[in-house]
Amino acid sequence: MRWDAQAISPRRGPALGDNSVSVPSGAAPASDALLPLVGLVRSVSTPEFSGVTFHEVTAKSVLNKVASGSQMPFEWTINPYRGCSHACVYCFARKSHTYLEFDAGHDFDSQVIVKINAAEVLRKELSKPAWGHHHVALGTNTDPYQRAEGRYQLMPGIIRALAESGTPFSVLTKGTLLSRDIPLLKHASSQVSVDVGISLAMTDESLAAVIEPGTPAPRARLRLILRLRDAGLSCGVMAMPILPWLTDSDDALESLFAALSAAGATGVTAGALYLRPGTREWFMQWLSAHHPALVEKYKGLYGRGAYVSDEYKTWLTGRIKYFKARHGFTGSSGFSHRRATARKEAAVAHPTAGQAKLF
Ligand code: SF4
Repeated sequence: MRWDAQAISPRRGPALGDNSVSVPSGAAPASDALLPLVGLVRSVSTPEFSGVTFHEVTAKSVLNKVASGSQMPFEWTINPYRGCSHACVYCFARKSHTYLEFDAGHDFDSQVIVKINAAEVLRKELSKPAWGHHHVALGTNTDPYQRAEGRYQLMPGIIRALAESGTPFSVLTKGTLLSRDIPLLKHASSQVSVDVGISLAMTDESLAAVIEPGTPAPRARLRLILRLRDAGLSCGVMAMPILPWLTDSDDALESLFAALSAAGATGVTAGALYLRPGTREWFMQWLSAHHPALVEKYKGLYGRGAYVSDEYKTWLTGRIKYFKARHGFTGSSGFSHRRATARKEAAVAHPTAGQAKLF
């Protein structure tokens, strides 16, 4: 098989747990295919995914408990991939790649960890008596429908495992590959609560091509929203990030909200760009190459750190409110991974739910 023939470093190591990703000291350079990742089976590159290396690992666990005290609106996550070939310059998750001793820039886009046994491990974790059937969020750190999913097909097994165990879940993606799983998601939604969200914050195709270079084009994501709605599934939209001076004009917001409304989005959550460390450096480098006139403006707007100024935030909130109302999104909650709550029936069926930690 062509894929197998192109394996470049067959290796074996102990299994990888979501919370136990580590690289021994003295690691090889970040982009080196011989990087000694824990659980690494092999590293693979192939012409079909030019410029991307997949590091196939066996995971010890895939259900990840978000640290207590986190501001995130979810408590349990699954990330079958680490790193993301969608390569959004503004991706807030970039810094997480440095925990693997990859860099937060090009390595995040091109060195993708694949938990090849994700579905199998998940089934075991979900079958434990201590599992509380909490809501599980997918697409919180990297995109589960990034291009690699076309090859590895991890999501069907994950969806089946969640639904058959009675575990509600949500999926957020930019990947139109999700359309492959619409029948499966539809079936899952008859078993558990399923929330599907599409990430789309601009309709400018030429800007998207340079700032989200690995993603399906905005119009393709609009068609995906239509398909989800035609299938009878709700589909919220995460319209983040809105980019100051690039996608925040009245024309840009009108185009975005009109398109989302026409596609049948059931709600929109929108907000400004967030520039945490790791992302900030990569984004500012991109900005100086593509929009040098905006560099000083951004430095002023983000002068106090990761967030926009209060004045800008207030202004943008007002504009978003106006365009949401104009296109009928009043009262709709938009998309958000919901905070984990055990389903009532699950609590009955599993009386230990919520009383024990999985790890
Ligand atoms: S699709 Fe999401 S996870 Fe992937 S690079 Fe873009 S923002 Fe990051």
